[in-house]
Amino acid sequence: RDHLLTDIIGNRQVKSTVKDEYKNVPIPEYFGCNVFNDEAMRTYLPYKTYAKLKTIIATGEAIDDALAEEVAHGVKEWALRKGATHYTHWFQPMTGTTAEKHDSFLDFDGDGQPINRFSGKALKQGEPDASSFPSGGLRATFEARGYTAWDPSSPIFIIEGVNGNTLCIPTVFLSYTGEVLDKKAPLLRSMEVLSREATRLLHLFGKRNVKRVTTTVGAEQEYFLIDKAYFLRRQDLVLTGRTLFGAKPPRGQQMEDHYFASIRERVLAFMQDVEIEAFKLGIPAKTRHNEVAPAQFEIAPIFETSNIATDHNLLLMEIMRKVASRHNFALLLHEKPFKGVNGSGKHNNWSMATDTGENLLEPGKTPHENLQFLTVLTTVITAVYRYADLLRTSVATPGNDHRLGANEAPPAIISVFLGQQLSRILDDIENNKKTDYTDKQIIDLGISTLPRISRDNTDRNRTSPFAFTGNKFEFRAVGSSQSIAGPNFVLNTIVAKVLREVCDTIEANLKKGMEFNQAVMESILPLIKESKPVRFEGNNYSPEWEKEAARRGLPNRKNTPESLKDFINQKNIDVLKEMGVLSEVEIKARYHILVENYSKTLNIEAETALAIAKTQILPTVIRYQQILAQSISSIKGLVGESTYKTQVALLEDYASLVLDLQKKIHDLETVLTKAEETEDEVKKADFYCEQVVPMMNALREIVDTLEDKTADDLWPLPKYREMLFVY
Ligand code: ADP
Ligand code: MG
Repeated sequence: RDHLLTDIIGNRQVKSTVKDEYKNVPIPEYFGCNVFNDEAMRTYLPYKTYAKLKTIIATGEAIDDALAEEVAHGVKEWALRKGATHYTHWFQPMTGTTAEKHDSFLDFDGDGQPINRFSGKALKQGEPDASSFPSGGLRATFEARGYTAWDPSSPIFIIEGVNGNTLCIPTVFLSYTGEVLDKKAPLLRSMEVLSREATRLLHLFGKRNVKRVTTTVGAEQEYFLIDKAYFLRRQDLVLTGRTLFGAKPPRGQQMEDHYFASIRERVLAFMQDVEIEAFKLGIPAKTRHNEVAPAQFEIAPIFETSNIATDHNLLLMEIMRKVASRHNFALLLHEKPFKGVNGSGKHNNWSMATDTGENLLEPGKTPHENLQFLTVLTTVITAVYRYADLLRTSVATPGNDHRLGANEAPPAIISVFLGQQLSRILDDIENNKKTDYTDKQIIDLGISTLPRISRDNTDRNRTSPFAFTGNKFEFRAVGSSQSIAGPNFVLNTIVAKVLREVCDTIEANLKKGMEFNQAVMESILPLIKESKPVRFEGNNYSPEWEKEAARRGLPNRKNTPESLKDFINQKNIDVLKEMGVLSEVEIKARYHILVENYSKTLNIEAETALAIAKTQILPTVIRYQQILAQSISSIKGLVGESTYKTQVALLEDYASLVLDLQKKIHDLETVLTKAEETEDEVKKADFYCEQVVPMMNALREIVDTLEDKTADDLWPLPKYREMLFVY
């Protein structure tokens, strides 16, 4: 293993990899310098164009060709000044990552002279050759090609390259008949419908000046960093993002000394470079710290509107990958890169805010405001209760199966944590038999005395998948590697749906002549009762909770294939359809993509496990077996009988493990062939989950046992103790 150590030591120099002009500079001086932000718009657009564009960004109106032409010109002048030679429509296909195809600004004028050109049409619409993106059969049904369309609500930005920069235009990806083929379009649609319903509610509460409500998101991103030298020597990390083998090291996270510990210099240098690159792109990175597991870290931004937060999180993951490589690190975004070690998630902090600056999940100061807060709170809890299964599908990925419902993780049951105080208030309301709700009575219920709830009070329960943390909800089941678009469009959609119902009921109650407070209370009371089973304040990790949740009838989908089936149940199709977020065809297409993605991922993992077992592990253990055998024949007659016998026993034990290894390889091969022969995609995914996964685990168990019994210098893979502790 000496060569490994030499590499690591070589990699350990701490150096910055960003340009000098950004070092030791106050952040505001360059924040957003690579973004076509307000300042750039003002500088590069005629004032009228600027004003029109601002209105469009705020209202979501369509952009006419003349305006697009003027904006394109300004954007191009800005981009050229910034050293851009190319542009691309930046989009988010169903792969969960981002896609780009670059075109240069090069064109020729009438005289055949080369010029830079960027038309309004090129800004508004692009036509990538999209036949290779997953479409779940949508394109076959509708139209051969998809197109990308500019999303003005997310700012245009520039990605730097070694020999020139690239202008990136955030876009949605659609088929020619309007079916969405990406992750951004449903998110935008869900924000739209939520804004409509939430605005309606606020108008009922007399806030006529509110025109829009946006959803806000702050995504805390967890990740691992290991030295690149290890990474490159592990096919499993390179091909699947996680270790398929690896014995438990003597030291894991039991010392609890990594969380919030002082950050190693080499890691800090990486973090600082990431932040500088993020700031240039207007990504408001805020917090950095060590996480629970060794070699695990977190970066959290200041929250933004969901659409921009999603774009920024995708960009941030890209930045981190690049910067890690420059620092000779490998970035691991997988949900469970190391067995037996804490996994990585992405806490999705979520709330709603009005264009007048009010956070709808902030408890208020007057009885009236608190009634509004309680209405919104009850709406969210009810939405999560009714659509817990749909919310679960939004985080169902093969990687997340190792976190949700797996051995070392919270169960896959979606429940809501509110904290003692709010729980008590909801219980009191439920048990109160009052029939009229004057301000006085609302005060009696304790609603008016809601203090601003501090995070210390509410955030103690770290085990809840959906926790109220003072003035926002934190959806913690999101996987570290996934796009947050999915979880957020589901969340927005289901909340919009219940908001619509609440508004309908309040309006109906008012029509019946009820006084306002009463009209509101009578519309939320049944919901408080109905949604009670989803509220859970206890330890989500305890085995009792699984039983209790089953008693309460809460869904508990332990793996991706099982969970995904809920995506196409009638209730969930109905809500997505009714809210105009996805059509039935779009839902089914997505379902197929996700099911296929599961089988493909598992196939790659199983093939990789086999390759490692057959070409690295088996040759190694046979070599060591031979060493043991040679030792026995060389000492025969020279040592006492008992010494001799002990060595024979050692060999026999080892040889039986080697035999077992060969058997497990064979078993996995057999079951894998069967999996691939399964025609039906849904059955195939089930088969992978039920048959292939257990075989992979069995193979892993024997390999990990052999790792602990084989000479260290022979072992072909970097070990956990090295990857997690030596960097
Ligand atoms: P932690 O959860 O680690 O204790 P904080 O509660 O301070 O940390 O914040 C976590 C994340 O929640 C941050 O990204 C923060 O910007 C975000 N956040 C705070 N308020 C809101 C809000 N109203 N809407 C969405 N996200 C928010
Ligand atoms: Mg948090």
